[in-house]
Amino acid sequence: MKAVVLHALAEPLVTEEIPTPLPGTGEVLIKVAACGVCHSDLHLAGGEWDLLKPITKLPLILGHEVTGTITALGEGVTEFQIGDRVGVPWLHYTCGECEFCLAGRETLCGKQQITGCTVDGGFAEYLKAKASHTAKLPDNLSFAEAAPLLCAGLTVYNALKTAEVHAGQKVAIFGVGGLGHLAIQLAKAKGAEVLAVDVADAKLQLARECGADHLVNITATQAHKELKKLTGGGPHVIVVTSGSRAAYETALRSLRRGGTLAVVGMAPEPINVSTVALVSGEFRIVAAAVGTRQDLHEVLALAAAGKVKCHIETRPFAQANNVLQEMQQGRLLGRVVLEL
Ligand SMILES: [Zn+2]
Ligand SMILES: [Zn+2]
Repeated sequence: MKAVVLHALAEPLVTEEIPTPLPGTGEVLIKVAACGVCHSDLHLAGGEWDLLKPITKLPLILGHEVTGTITALGEGVTEFQIGDRVGVPWLHYTCGECEFCLAGRETLCGKQQITGCTVDGGFAEYLKAKASHTAKLPDNLSFAEAAPLLCAGLTVYNALKTAEVHAGQKVAIFGVGGLGHLAIQLAKAKGAEVLAVDVADAKLQLARECGADHLVNITATQAHKELKKLTGGGPHVIVVTSGSRAAYETALRSLRRGGTLAVVGMAPEPINVSTVALVSGEFRIVAAAVGTRQDLHEVLALAAAGKVKCHIETRPFAQANNVLQEMQQGRLLGRVVLEL
């Protein structure tokens, strides 16, 4: 099969011919139709994350927003048939037995395997996946539309759920990229009043199309004052999807008393947090790392009902390197999906 392979960290990907994987017991073989490109792919390929660098498989096929059709079943697989339309997320495997798996928090499983990191991902013609961690796709979602929901959509869905966003609240989404533009729609679906915050006017325009009620350009001086004014005291919840330290600092200055900061975007350097501000505001800080299979099921159902739609740009697989480069330069709007 054709695959786009990372041979060494921080080196360009190479398109080459490699053997097609064979599904083992409990596994399925999927003919890949589309695969989203996530910021994590960029960081993984660059070896930028200390926690994942030592467990990143090399050579590696990146990609953890994979959609396609099942073409072969391993022994013991009864829940799928050949021809089923499916998606494969970041969590390739979780043990189902540890304290976290048993508590419904499998994203914390210590035995987890990660698609496109510890095992090969979807930048290829075929992908081998665990049947237990493969999701059926709703019929009314195309492969390319569904792909970004498997990581970007899932992660922000989990963040909003963990932050306990509910109808009538004012919710600010910092960063209107692949994750942020989905977060806006999901927060609207929960009945929140949504403020979109970004540095780029083109991205704020996308936020408007996604249903944001207010747009705030964070480069304006005193963005935190504007947020407080627009919300009568600050947003109840702020979800930061950008990896910018300045975004986190502004978010903490803007939050409503008793409000919740949801950490999604990962800043390369530590952020300054005033414990005085935390205590006096009784702020809550929560974090979301992708989501569970249950969360994925819920987000796919919302998409099937038309509540969330990803702004996608499709590109041929051969352009994987260019896409990663453009992502690094912040030139992508919405989500790029590679199509075979
Ligand atoms: Zn991702
Ligand atoms: Zn576990």
